[in-house]
Amino acid sequence: MEKSNTHHNSSKHIVILGGGFAGIEVLKTLQKKFHNDSRVEITLVSKDNFLLFTPMLPEIASGMIETRHVVTTVRSFCKHANFYEANIELIDLNSKQINITHAIGRQSQPIDWRKHTLKYDYLVIAL
Ligand SMILES: Cc1cc2nc3c(=O)[nH]c(=O)nc-3n(C[C@H](O)[C@H](O)[C@H](O)COP(=O)(O)OP(=O)(O)OC[C@H]3O[C@@H](n4cnc5c(N)ncnc54)[C@H](O)[C@@H]3O)c2cc1C
Repeated sequence: MEKSNTHHNSSKHIVILGGGFAGIEVLKTLQKKFHNDSRVEITLVSKDNFLLFTPMLPEIASGMIETRHVVTTVRSFCKHANFYEANIELIDLNSKQINITHAIGRQSQPIDWRKHTLKYDYLVIAL
């Protein structure tokens, strides 16, 4: 299924690729700046639905803390943004669009895959 999003002429779509430290930091900054501006739509795409706090991974390995203490769901940061848990397959800078696929069912055991095309006006690459 191909789907592309449509926007009013005056509205701008910012797409952020990657939900790591860089992508989430950009997301927070842009949400703060544009949260009252309905002409700006923000979308974050990442294949993981969690942010991993890597500096504390050694404590996980040594059993000092539990895994759930170093992961935060990406959706909890998306207060004024859309989120796609998906693989970025293609970035087309000329036509300003990206192709993504996301799993139907469990990410680990998907029963099917869906393709989407996202159009953007501004792109943040933080993969
Ligand atoms: C064990 C460990 C300890 C560390 N400790 C420190 C520390 O103490 N201090 C410090 O400053 N740094 C530390 N780092 C480094 C730090 O984690 C990285 O510099 C930082 O995570 C990079 O952030 P990023 O957002 O650029 O990339 P990432 O955190 O790698 O995020 C990229 C995101 O993009 C997603 N992605 C990638 N490709 C695709 C694709 N094709 N489609 C969809 N999504 C995709 C990934 O799933 C990920 O969510 C540590 C790293 C490790 C591994």
